[in-house]
Amino acid sequence: MTTRSASTSTLDHLLTEIEHRNPAQPEFLQAAHEVLETLAPVLAARPEYAEAGLVERLVEPERQVIFRVPWQDDRGRVHVNRGFRVEFNSALGPYKGGLRFHPSVDLGVIKFLGFEQIFKNALTGLGIGGGKGGSDFDPHGRSDAEVMRFCQSFMTELYRHIGEHTDVPAGDIGVGGREIGYLFGQYRRITNRWEAGVLTGKGAGWGGSLIRPEATGYGNVLFAAAMLRERGEDLEGQTAVVSGSGNVAIYTIEKLAALGANAVTCSDSSGYVVDEKGIDLGLLKQVKEVERGRVDTYAERRGSSARFVPGGRVWEVPADIALPSATQNELDENDAAALIRNGVKAVSEGANMPATPEAVHLLQRSGVAFGPGKAANAGGVAVSALEMAQNHARTSWTAARVEEELTRIMNDIHTTCHETAERYGAPGDYVTGANIAGFERVADAMLAQGVI
Ligand code: NDP
Repeated sequence: MTTRSASTSTLDHLLTEIEHRNPAQPEFLQAAHEVLETLAPVLAARPEYAEAGLVERLVEPERQVIFRVPWQDDRGRVHVNRGFRVEFNSALGPYKGGLRFHPSVDLGVIKFLGFEQIFKNALTGLGIGGGKGGSDFDPHGRSDAEVMRFCQSFMTELYRHIGEHTDVPAGDIGVGGREIGYLFGQYRRITNRWEAGVLTGKGAGWGGSLIRPEATGYGNVLFAAAMLRERGEDLEGQTAVVSGSGNVAIYTIEKLAALGANAVTCSDSSGYVVDEKGIDLGLLKQVKEVERGRVDTYAERRGSSARFVPGGRVWEVPADIALPSATQNELDENDAAALIRNGVKAVSEGANMPATPEAVHLLQRSGVAFGPGKAANAGGVAVSALEMAQNHARTSWTAARVEEELTRIMNDIHTTCHETAERYGAPGDYVTGANIAGFERVADAMLAQGVI
């Protein structure tokens, strides 16, 4: 047996064991498969990794916390939600990763997100480990006071597990500036410490970084632009389909417009909007960020250029590039086939794991440039790390400086993934490049730090 096929059979064996040990966690298993399936060449080239049991240790979180979150609604009724924080890997720095509030949250979802975060954070080169947390709380339709009471109850347990040198949460689905504010307030009250570096995504006037709200969407567009550049093209004049209408989607649409492209769709869980003239960002921000409404309201107010399609998926709309920015597994094989039929050139993941494995394989086989989330959406956590740096130094940088750093980091990540893929015999395969490059950085740190 060659060394490479020996590595492949070790990985197959390990994947079977992971499935056995983590039943009923389909999203985590999907993420673990996606990474491990690309690692054979690096394990063959670096046998010391296997000898140190690195992959076995990497797939097991360092710590997992599950807790009760009781809270009262505006009518005094008691609700009980479940809170999670998975501290996956701290070989490169304090655990870092967002909090998600969505009814679909369970341990498997948080583990998938935390696992992805390890490699993503390593790719930024900024000294941050991987973690993720959240709750099955649904903020939709809840008053500000209810969201505040929920956040306070959530932090009343979470505070004992986090800290600027230990674990630094941020936002994700359902957790934006409002929630980070309530969480920070409760942390400060309980600990009696003004510890800015304990959470990122804070308001710009009290320790937040400029460009943090924009960073994930802007970063994904920069990554897509880098993939196109590699093929001798740019974004100017390109039509884009974007899913979602939250933080990532909004700033993706904004950056596309700044670089001369035109986003013609957005969506939420009720359906999607297609707007022939291009999405009017001012109107979308008013509906989603100010009024916390649904996308059909956008279509109603926009006039004849826009149409709301209840329950549909944006991928049926013809476009040159696609930027999924809502949630996991929102783009399947049929959607990929529709995109390919319509001539898509690049797909870049703003969301985490939005494309199913079958969709990814089809896109790659068809020659579409595919940017995996752990590389393409790393701009958010990168600027979070810059927020931590500003907090430590008790200073704040200009928007121009942060955006310059973000641009440099996204271009570096693109180059790293591209070069790593070539080095391991998979030219143009950003999935393999991102997985191996992230893995090598974490694995080398773990190797140096002993069996812990
Ligand atoms: P938001 O909560 O701001 O927005 C989420 C958007 O996606 C909403 O339009 C929401 O619609 C839609 N959505 C969420 N779940 C579903 C679902 N099950 N079905 C259909 N639509 C859904 O979240 P973000 O924009 O922050 O996050 C979007 C994605 O980007 C996530 O995958 C997140 O993990 C990823 N990400 C976010 C980062 C950040 O900095 N915020 C960083 C890196 C990745 P509705 O309101 O109807 O639920």
